[in-house]
Amino acid sequence: MLRVEGVHKWMGHNHVLRGVDLEVRQGEIVCILGPSGSGKSTLLRCINHLDPVDGGVVEVESERIGYETRRGTLYEQSERDVARARRRIGMVFQHFNLFQHLTALENVTYGPVKVLRRPRAEAVAHGRELLASVGLGQKEDSYPSELSGGQQQRVAIARALAMRPQLMMFDEPTSALDPELVGEVLAVMKRVAEGGMTMVVVTHEIGFAREVADRVVFMDQGVVVEEGTASEVLDDPRHERTASFLRRVR
Ligand code: ATP
Ligand code: MG
Repeated sequence: MLRVEGVHKWMGHNHVLRGVDLEVRQGEIVCILGPSGSGKSTLLRCINHLDPVDGGVVEVESERIGYETRRGTLYEQSERDVARARRRIGMVFQHFNLFQHLTALENVTYGPVKVLRRPRAEAVAHGRELLASVGLGQKEDSYPSELSGGQQQRVAIARALAMRPQLMMFDEPTSALDPELVGEVLAVMKRVAEGGMTMVVVTHEIGFAREVADRVVFMDQGVVVEEGTASEVLDDPRHERTASFLRRVR
């Protein structure tokens, strides 16, 4: 359902993505590991069209949302195509990025009402269901400043799910949290995975990758160095770069 092929991205003089290939099938959970600066966040931003690619192809559900031929002819995407493609993808960031002036429930219903033009009553009913499913049924009227980091991140997950995305992408969703709050967020992500969602998760949580990932991808210096099942990549890496990274994070 997601195909990334030969994607290149420059940030100023920095060649950040150097021909990334990645395929994700419907319902698959893919965890991306890699050292700081390897291009993981940039890749998610390119998939979500927050950043245009400088070369290669990104396809979501066989719809191309970023495309340039190898000869360098750029095929412009209309704003509408990009907006539509982006709507299929839910994104959860390291720093929750909630609307501070809205309650938990208002955060979750904002997109469905304002962007998808769903009737408010329907959005509220779905929003309550989602907040309950992330364990925050009692917190719908709380503002982000009244919630712990773990609670805020669970609201952010509910908010992304409220858009009924076909793909959920997480960029180090627990790395800004106090250690005691990490587990509750990983548990919610695990439940989302068990519900059949297709997920791409950038994380340093090796235990989560081992338990939940169908496939683990190791990135370094702007390319996918290796990929395989969790046990292939984590227990028996083929590349020294993967092995040395794993020694450092364990
Ligand atoms: P981390 O694990 O620290 O989050 P990452 O794998 O997500 O790292 P990216 O954030 O994708 O890495 O960054 C990849 C490279 O791109 C880095 O070398 C970074 O310095 C560079 N980079 C990122 N954003 C910009 C920018 N706005 N301008 C210039 N260079 C950038
Ligand atoms: Mg990053």
